[in-house]
Amino acid sequence: MSSFDVIIIGRGITGLSAAWHLYRHGIRKICLIAPKISPETTATLGPGYASVSLHDNISRAVHGQGSEVAHAILNLNRTGFSGLLDFARERNIFHQVGQVSRFADSDLEAKEMTKAVAWLVANGFPASIEKNQNRLVQRDGAAAASLDISLTLKFLEKESKAAVRSNSVKAIKSNSNGVDVSLEDDTIVSGEMVIAACHRGIKELIPEMEHTLVNHADQWMEFEVTKGTLPLAPGDLTFTAHSHFWMSCATQNTLRAGGARFLRKWAGIEAESAPVMGNITNAVKTKIEELFKTEGVKLSDPVKASGILDIRACDEIPIIGPMFGDSRILLASGYMGSGLTLGFAAGQGLAEFVDAGKSKVIPSLFHPNRLRSLTETD
Ligand SMILES: Cc1cc2nc3c(=O)[nH]c(=O)nc-3n(C[C@H](O)[C@H](O)[C@H](O)COP(=O)(O)OP(=O)(O)OC[C@H]3O[C@@H](n4cnc5c(N)ncnc54)[C@H](O)[C@@H]3O)c2cc1C
Repeated sequence: MSSFDVIIIGRGITGLSAAWHLYRHGIRKICLIAPKISPETTATLGPGYASVSLHDNISRAVHGQGSEVAHAILNLNRTGFSGLLDFARERNIFHQVGQVSRFADSDLEAKEMTKAVAWLVANGFPASIEKNQNRLVQRDGAAAASLDISLTLKFLEKESKAAVRSNSVKAIKSNSNGVDVSLEDDTIVSGEMVIAACHRGIKELIPEMEHTLVNHADQWMEFEVTKGTLPLAPGDLTFTAHSHFWMSCATQNTLRAGGARFLRKWAGIEAESAPVMGNITNAVKTKIEELFKTEGVKLSDPVKASGILDIRACDEIPIIGPMFGDSRILLASGYMGSGLTLGFAAGQGLAEFVDAGKSKVIPSLFHPNRLRSLTETD
């Protein structure tokens, strides 16, 4: 007989959101497994902003994936964003809602923005374009928030009332009765179903996923404003130069910023580590000072910096849902930089799969099944 209804591998935003939503579905026998040093999760290493808007302007998704996919990704972001903020609000977890804006860095980007805004408006998402000191600025509305992510994870875990095993998973094995999960200490945990919410760990534990998920290295830095006044408010999220640069305003005088990935070997794709690189730090700092030159903004050297290895799906569409060929295994990953919102929404959808065998929030285009042909060897 299985000891748990659901075993969740991973204590980041995906795993903990799944645990919390499962509890709300009345599923009580949940086991959460992850190595002890949580919060060493991608979520807690990151700068901690959540956003409805995608990192890249929507025209990139529309052009590359088509309107239907772009719409589905934005809708899922919207579900995750409002769920996450409701969660934070109800528990008095620090969060600050702000505006999303994109500053055109060239005529080409101004053209892209005009198209993006037309698509967003036609598809029912708030967006507008305005001229600000001779440059075009795209506004996506109150679509971002900075958030205390460590506290959010703590609340999700506590309220899920799940059993916690501090260990690493070595292997997952399904059989006709359920799933056995082997741990590093050679014990086995059994359950009816498994949720693989273990980010890069998915590639090792589910070999069919190895080539569908691609590592990428990135970094962010926190700067103090030492001179001038930022034309931003806490919670605001800003992009420029086709999203090659981004910044999230944490307080009136503190910016968390990143970008310039093109300065890494292969832009960080397939990296195995994510060192903080000085040339990237300098490029980001210089770009921000240039963007806010009229406001006289000068930044300190970074007061914090963190490198992160993230993963993206090879087709740049998040992977969320039942594993093909084995519906006892569910997985979620590949959020293209929107991990806090999509991870929260993924947890909601995975809990629906466990409870009802289908999900209202996760359309089939996100399911792993679309990648099946990539994993077949003959
Ligand atoms: C530089 C950078 C900045 C970012 N900034 C943001 C941001 O501000 N906002 C945003 O929304 N997204 C951001 N992202 C993306 C986001 O951080 C991730 O997509 C998201 O945190 C992934 O969450 P997760 O729960 O799936 O994975 P994780 O948070 O990585 O959690 C995975 C869990 O699985 C566990 N695990 C792994 N392997 C095993 C195993 N074998 N056995 C047991 N447990 C295992 C880990 O210990 C961990 O608990 C950023 C990414 C980068 C690279």
